[in-house]
Amino acid sequence: MSAELLLEETLIKRSQQKKRTSPLNYKERLFLLTKSRLTYYDGKAEKKFRRGSIELSQIRCVEIVKNGGGIIPCQNKYPFQIVYDTNILYVFAPSHDRRSLWVQSIKEEIKENSVVSTKFHPQFWQEGLWLCCRQVEKQARGCEEYNLFGDISRKPLPPIPGEERKNERRRPAPPLPPGDKDEEEDDCVVALFDFPGAESHDLSLVKGCEYVILERCDVNWYKARNKYGEEGYIPSNYVTEKKSGNLVQFVWFSKQVNRNKAEELLRKEDKEGSFIVRDSSTPGAYTVSLYTKSAAGEGAAVIKHYHIKETQGSYPQFYLAEKHLFSSIPDLIEYHKHNAAGLVARLRYPVGKQDKSAPSTAGFSYEKWEIDPTELTFMKELGSGQFGLVRLGKWRAQHKVAIKAIRQGAMYEEDFIEEAKVMMRLSHPKLVQLYGVCSQQKPIYIVTEFMEHGCLLNHLRQRRGSFSLGSLLSICLDVSEGMEHLEANGFIHRDLAARNCLVNDSLVVKVSDFGMTRYVLDDQYTSSSGAKFPVKWSPPEVFNFCKYSSKSDIWSYGVLMWEVFTEGRMPFEQSTNHEVVTLVTKGHRLYRPKKATPAIYDIMTLSWHERPEERPSFSQLCLMISDALEGDATPTN
Ligand code: ADP
Repeated sequence: MSAELLLEETLIKRSQQKKRTSPLNYKERLFLLTKSRLTYYDGKAEKKFRRGSIELSQIRCVEIVKNGGGIIPCQNKYPFQIVYDTNILYVFAPSHDRRSLWVQSIKEEIKENSVVSTKFHPQFWQEGLWLCCRQVEKQARGCEEYNLFGDISRKPLPPIPGEERKNERRRPAPPLPPGDKDEEEDDCVVALFDFPGAESHDLSLVKGCEYVILERCDVNWYKARNKYGEEGYIPSNYVTEKKSGNLVQFVWFSKQVNRNKAEELLRKEDKEGSFIVRDSSTPGAYTVSLYTKSAAGEGAAVIKHYHIKETQGSYPQFYLAEKHLFSSIPDLIEYHKHNAAGLVARLRYPVGKQDKSAPSTAGFSYEKWEIDPTELTFMKELGSGQFGLVRLGKWRAQHKVAIKAIRQGAMYEEDFIEEAKVMMRLSHPKLVQLYGVCSQQKPIYIVTEFMEHGCLLNHLRQRRGSFSLGSLLSICLDVSEGMEHLEANGFIHRDLAARNCLVNDSLVVKVSDFGMTRYVLDDQYTSSSGAKFPVKWSPPEVFNFCKYSSKSDIWSYGVLMWEVFTEGRMPFEQSTNHEVVTLVTKGHRLYRPKKATPAIYDIMTLSWHERPEERPSFSQLCLMISDALEGDATPTN
């Protein structure tokens, strides 16, 4: 045996080729680590066949894999990952300590490598998705800082100085209570909504009940078990983790409700002591919005916004107006339900969640994209577009849907049907959900979420003059959030405009028709010189070279913002497409709409930067718009 041998052990390796998580893809291999290579063999040490070998100088990252409760179909339950070239090797160790030893030993050997990653994916790539960040591109950049010198199985990574909260809208994980927590603990969730279960392999959910997650099949569907031992698939967006620090399980918490929306909800409720706990505009922080009539004169109501403050230290404590400290936010809320203690009123009545309707699911059931047309009934006509007629209908007599019947010769149908499986996985509250297709007939049908108020452009035009600044910004924020999800998944819209967004009965705006231009069979629409080409929404690199990217979507988004702030005017109203090309090439841009403040117009002009790389990303736009929405009014305390 070579003198430079550092470690040797039989571990289990997941096949890199197969998609399925079948136990057959997990093979025992003898792993040998030397100073230059990691090699694995079939068979025992005495008689072994080399199956693969990785040069250590090619390794970009080695780290444990956090397995968010998914089932590991082999006896070794401690996974780690080795990222090299464009590949990932998943290896499973028999114990926590053996895994740590392998990870630390390889880290030691690669610390001089020139190719070490700055970011990595803490969870598995599985079934065409990164389980950690839901990106669908295997080569998508990591979603967490990679720290070669840390050991994430022992302690959390230290934040990168100055980076902790900047541009980071995701909430940091709540602090772990003292003591070592086993990451493989039971994965328990609470249902936020009822789910009736569409197929026999689904499990029905009852709001408020608890379930154990058996497998995270993909980002949208989990396999779960109820308290009676029944098992089946459930939509992942209908449940929330049952653990301390997760506020979503409480009726008083509303995620992603901004100041404006909170005020609207509280006014609508019009009850003394109504309150909402919500995400604050400061990332990682929370705000309590509280409604009272008693503080002001006769009948006049006031709404106060209080930041939940945190003390410094490893186990922070929380407080509101005065320094009554609590170790958790639920404890703090419970206290203030009974004691105003510095607030204008006590927290009497939680608002916001009880009447919230259930969100769309990514398809009607797990892995179901083909919809049986005999289960659809047709109601009224909703409109018609490039692909054909859109009608309101019902699926299984109760679930309202929009059904698009594709006109013969309007679409590359086969390509679309293939892509539909990917598009169905794009599931987000600000994207119009694709439920499935009826592809076994002519015309084919595309079945999507029904949006009561139809297209955004008409909505703006019909209600012109009635929008407040806040409601216009809310529309922009909705669209930027939907687009942020597409951007994070490496998905390009290619035709973002107010006409391609839809409005539902809660006045939430969602992005629709993403990626669909790729399937249009009409030169007038697809060729940049065609009469129907959206030149007025296109940046120079698109109308000149058809170079689409998330940055070209950003340009279109700026034009959409302009449509919103003019309440539905046609951009470059007086100019032809041809003239617009000349104007924009010379550096001319759309004027500032009267309703847009200079700060809002700045956001538009940033999106219209000639050089794509200078334009902001959608996650940056989301931040800028939520800041604008929060406005200059700072919280009360
Ligand atoms: P196409 O993609 O064929 O161009 P559109 O998606 O633009 O068609 O749809 C045409 C019209 O039908 C829209 O302007 C809108 O009024 C209506 N519509 C489309 N989808 C929906 C939906 N999901 N909910 C409600 N109305 C819809």
